[in-house]
Amino acid sequence: MTVKFVYDEWNIIEDGFDPNTNRFSESIFSLGNEHMGLRGFFEEDYSVDSHQGTYLAGVYYPDKTKVGWWKIGYPEFFAKVVNSTNWIGVSIAIDDTRFDLAACEIETFRRELDMKEGKLVRTFIAKDGSGRRTRFVFTRFLSMSDRNIACVCIKASPLNYDGVFSFEPYLNGDVVNEDSNYGEKFWIEKNKHVDSNIALLTMETKKTEFLVSTATASKLFLGKDEKDVKKEPVVKEKYVGHRLVVTAERGSTVEIQKYIAVCTSRDYEKTDLEAVTVNKLHAALNKGYEELFKEHRAEMERIWEERDVVIEGDVKAQQGIRYNIFQLHQTYMGKDPRLNIGPKGFTGEKYGGGTYWDTEAFCFPFYLYTDEKVARNLLYYRYLHLDKARENAAKLGFKGALYPMVTMDGQECHNEWEITFEEIHRNGAIAYAIYNYTNYTGDTSYLIEFGIEVLVEISRFWADRVNYHPKKDKYMILGVTGPNEYENNVNNNWYTNMICAWTLEYTLESLRLVKGQNEQRWRELRTKLNISEDELEAWKDIIDKMYYPYVEELGIFEQNDGYMDKEQNLVRDLPKEVLPLNKHWSWDRILRSCFIKQADVIQGLYFFPDRFSIECQRRNFDFYEPRTVHESSLSPSIHSIVASRIGYRDKAYELYLRTARLDLDNYNHDTDEGIHLTSMAASWSTIVEGFAGMRVTDGTLRFNPYVPSCWKGYAFKITFRGRKLKVSVQKEQITIEQLSGEPMRILVLDREFEISKPNRVEVRSDRERNI
Ligand code: BGC
Repeated sequence: MTVKFVYDEWNIIEDGFDPNTNRFSESIFSLGNEHMGLRGFFEEDYSVDSHQGTYLAGVYYPDKTKVGWWKIGYPEFFAKVVNSTNWIGVSIAIDDTRFDLAACEIETFRRELDMKEGKLVRTFIAKDGSGRRTRFVFTRFLSMSDRNIACVCIKASPLNYDGVFSFEPYLNGDVVNEDSNYGEKFWIEKNKHVDSNIALLTMETKKTEFLVSTATASKLFLGKDEKDVKKEPVVKEKYVGHRLVVTAERGSTVEIQKYIAVCTSRDYEKTDLEAVTVNKLHAALNKGYEELFKEHRAEMERIWEERDVVIEGDVKAQQGIRYNIFQLHQTYMGKDPRLNIGPKGFTGEKYGGGTYWDTEAFCFPFYLYTDEKVARNLLYYRYLHLDKARENAAKLGFKGALYPMVTMDGQECHNEWEITFEEIHRNGAIAYAIYNYTNYTGDTSYLIEFGIEVLVEISRFWADRVNYHPKKDKYMILGVTGPNEYENNVNNNWYTNMICAWTLEYTLESLRLVKGQNEQRWRELRTKLNISEDELEAWKDIIDKMYYPYVEELGIFEQNDGYMDKEQNLVRDLPKEVLPLNKHWSWDRILRSCFIKQADVIQGLYFFPDRFSIECQRRNFDFYEPRTVHESSLSPSIHSIVASRIGYRDKAYELYLRTARLDLDNYNHDTDEGIHLTSMAASWSTIVEGFAGMRVTDGTLRFNPYVPSCWKGYAFKITFRGRKLKVSVQKEQITIEQLSGEPMRILVLDREFEISKPNRVEVRSDRERNI
């Protein structure tokens, strides 16, 4: 079930309320500020289905693994981001009757996410069982300028009665994860305190012992005047709050402002935690709601100034990309190098909030092209996990390092053998990100200092994982799952074989670079990692003799051995009712079918545009895309970029909409479980790498842009080697403006330009893009 949102450039608007789509809307209306976040559930009590999820970045619990048949090598636990203290809650009673929207007749209802200002507003008029009509306006924001602070403002107006309103702003630590494996509660109460103004609750996660202190206080206004009402403490197990009672006359408005401060022991000493939290709350109370919102809005403005993508002439495309950019910034801005990007951010529990290959394969370009420091942090995160990746490889009986499929602290958490043990291509994406960073930034220091160690260990894993087939004199990789998870335990997944050989090649090239640029580091590395000439020779042999499945008569790469033995069908011939396949077909049927979940061969083409001719990319695209159901959110973006590259503009646009509006339009029918954050970063790439054809080759930034036929134009900003650039693409003209940094050379539509004075290049797009 889905909601049809109003098309609007800056707002996501839900008009009317349907309890059946509430979970979906809760996901869409999630808010965060990188430190914390929550789904868009109601402040007041609501007795019908809702997923009340409130999460804190980096606060997790190792939930004991639950599987049917234990396989040696499975991890002991799955680390999960923990649903934590509900701090948004305010119970409301009118004349002693608990207010519950589920028990009311809803006359009007509107939920509006203002992406520009970063606030969520919910307005409705509801008539309760006694005929009392009340107008409510709820506004919330999580401060972007002080990430420990959030505020809620509730305005209630009795429309046809005089009534006694009781508000109970509370903190409730008695929360559970819906995905808890054994129904276990992950929190224990450490301390609580309530006085006549402030309520404080300190909870601790079991096992990981993260301490989280939350403090709250409220102000009450009648009309414009603050009322000095009694705040009666309410204390229960894992629960603190205040009750504020006020009489409101018909036509008047009561307003309650709830201030919240949330701090964790990830950022503060445990002994100081409560004091810091209370101090932060006091500071927020002193500033007041308006001032806090002003500061937050200024920060939002700054973010949009740098990161907005403007699309002219297509409101739904504009809304889609802004929603993606908005949610990315709500979840991860790279301020904390210990954090990473969970596929659902703060919007749901699926995938446990852990780090996947999504980061390197799909999110990395967005950060790399807009803030190189963040990209470096993301790489460094994996460097810090190198020892754990070594342990992981050893546990499975291999040399080198195998990065986990999903992790919170470097340890593998995934527990399905066909993925945990077999989806090893993830190692390749981590190597590729190091290449991508070095190629784009021209900065070799990361590679030399840290990246090279990661590359060597990943290469070692590959070299040990391949099989040599003496008769064929070829290396093969058996028993893998490629990016297409709709086929498991296959031999010679083309993408995996290709990324394996490429990693070995790039590692050898990088070792030469280290040797050439820093002889001492090379010597140190040789000893530290025990690198021998024999080992390097063995890698060369693998590169030379890697086996790549190929379908001669079609001139395409075969996704894996045996793929062509399958009955070949096309998605367009499937009845609509069976889509998505994963909700309608048995797993067995999916595995035996030729249908592909996400970019697989196409993923390889995307990564290496220079290795494959346009004709080759087209042949593969023509074959594989019609068999792809795009049931991973990560699929449409990659296909869209490759479609742009090979000149399939309509397809590129169709897939752009599918990625940028994936959640708003609920394409995959699963947004109720949370949004698809990692694919949102890739949506941005469909514009920048796809439509604008941005790439760096031999140190030169190049654009090969076009404008999708239903757009007038688009514009975005990037950073490149210490410079800021604004790129505007119109149907007739491309303008590249340099906003800061040294003069530079660029290529636009294969013509070379120097951006110096004036700091802009204007290129008539009369000469068509060469594809
Ligand atoms: C995809 C994986 C991805 C994971 C998390 C799965 O559905 O197939 O490629 O890493 O979701 O986003």
